[in-house]
Amino acid sequence: MDDRRIRKTVIVGGGTAGWMTAAALSRLFERQLEIVLIESDEIGTVGVGEATIPQIRLYNAMLGLDENEFVRRTQGTFKLGIEFVDWLRPGHRYMHAFGGVGGRDLGLVPFHHYWLKLHRRGHAGPLDDYTFNAVAARRGRFMRGADVSDSPLSNVFHAFHFDAGLYARYLRGHAEARGVRRCEGRVVDVALRAEDGFIEAVTMDDGTRIEGELFIDCSGFRGLLIEQALKTGYEDWSRWLPCNRALAVPCASGGELTPYTRSTARAAGWQWRIPLQHRIGNGYVYCSDHIGDDEAASVLLANLDGEALADPRPLRFVTGMRRRFWHRNCVAIGLSSGFLEPLESTSIHFIQSSIAKLVQFFPDRRFAPADIDAYNRLTRFEFERSRDFLVLHYKATERDDSEFWRRCRGMQIPETLADKIELFRSGGRILREREELFTEVSWLQVMVGQGILPAAWHPMVELLSDEECERMVEGVRRVLENAAGVMPTHADFIARHCAA
Ligand code: FAD
Repeated sequence: MDDRRIRKTVIVGGGTAGWMTAAALSRLFERQLEIVLIESDEIGTVGVGEATIPQIRLYNAMLGLDENEFVRRTQGTFKLGIEFVDWLRPGHRYMHAFGGVGGRDLGLVPFHHYWLKLHRRGHAGPLDDYTFNAVAARRGRFMRGADVSDSPLSNVFHAFHFDAGLYARYLRGHAEARGVRRCEGRVVDVALRAEDGFIEAVTMDDGTRIEGELFIDCSGFRGLLIEQALKTGYEDWSRWLPCNRALAVPCASGGELTPYTRSTARAAGWQWRIPLQHRIGNGYVYCSDHIGDDEAASVLLANLDGEALADPRPLRFVTGMRRRFWHRNCVAIGLSSGFLEPLESTSIHFIQSSIAKLVQFFPDRRFAPADIDAYNRLTRFEFERSRDFLVLHYKATERDDSEFWRRCRGMQIPETLADKIELFRSGGRILREREELFTEVSWLQVMVGQGILPAAWHPMVELLSDEECERMVEGVRRVLENAAGVMPTHADFIARHCAA
């Protein structure tokens, strides 16, 4: 058989997406693939993206990064989940924490059915009290999951907050050490092959022409290759996720170093708070139909923990995704492939997931359409189901104190989401299909947190008497509380293991 291997890949863009892709491919192909990365200091990067989900640990482990060093190098902190404040109604808060809900596996019937029966009767507290990561997060505690059998301490699931600029720089070091060649400058032209429209080469502002066989578009929102050159098209989801702007501002740290992201609902969107070692990242994600930029900036600046360290930085976006993520010999990874607002910290994960799928379906020079179709199908599924999860936060709210929230409450939602809500509402069941990113436990916490309580619980719950049920559920609460009590504080853990 002829050798049809791809010999040269060109990555356009050196933000988080570009350097994550370059670091991963250079690690996996070990110099068998020539990799050139083009980036422009003049254009710069989006410069936000600080909260992650636990899967990133797999990516870092694949690269062989030492976790303490990674946290130190990126001014990072640990994240046990996200606290949602004022989303259901002003004054209400709940956690979407990583990891499980309840204690040991109870067999066929998930813990929340037992909890639900008691909660309905006023004999159980909020779900957060039975979710180990949430219990630890509220107490400001952190340690890595320890190998202690039969203890909740073996079930700590963590992700990170970090400075995305430092992360990209850190990965660049790894990628360049493994042979990735970096070209600084602006791409000003993209040449397509006459016979099939495949990308042949890009031309830089100094006239240099860079040819390649596989092109990876990591150029950010502009989609330089996938959209500007290949005109792939974009599916706009603003009717479900109407926020289209953000202002980002770092502020000085103060007070406790919390091991979680906070998302606070505001009149025309929501505000994030992400604690790093050296500062707190903040931003207001809002809908320009309902608030002006100046007013949004005032709201943001009035709600910081400490002094603002810069002027608020404006960002604009349209929520949605490319009609094709992979088209001809071009794969879009990162913001060029689509965007969901950072409500559940999904963007960096999508980069990681795209890289994993690219490796799974890595082409040869035939670029088999079946591989490309499979890649596009899987990526679309992941985007759509994650979109549904975000829409849930907006749709299921009792808020009617602003135009924005009335609009969200009243909107039509995707059928896939409506079905999920109905299934849960009727009997407390959650169906996670195929490669959906968010687990049953994630859906559970956000549905309950947003005020959706099932009408019934699993019939097998009645096999326990009320007293047995109460004893079991209360026992779980006490075990989690005690286990969290022996954990160090988040600040102590960092000072000890990974202070920058
Ligand atoms: P960019 O950072 O925009 O990088 C694009 C690169 O392409 C740059 O290097 C640029 O120089 C280069 N480039 C562009 N045009 C050219 C050209 N003509 N020639 C040469 N080079 C070019 N994600 C999370 O996971 N968690 C979060 O908490 C989070 N928060 C976010 C908040 C906001 C408001 C926004 C907008 C995004 C957030 N994200 C978050 C997403 C995250 O920022 C991005 O997924 C991530 O930074 C990847 O961006 P990128 O590399 O695709 O694009």
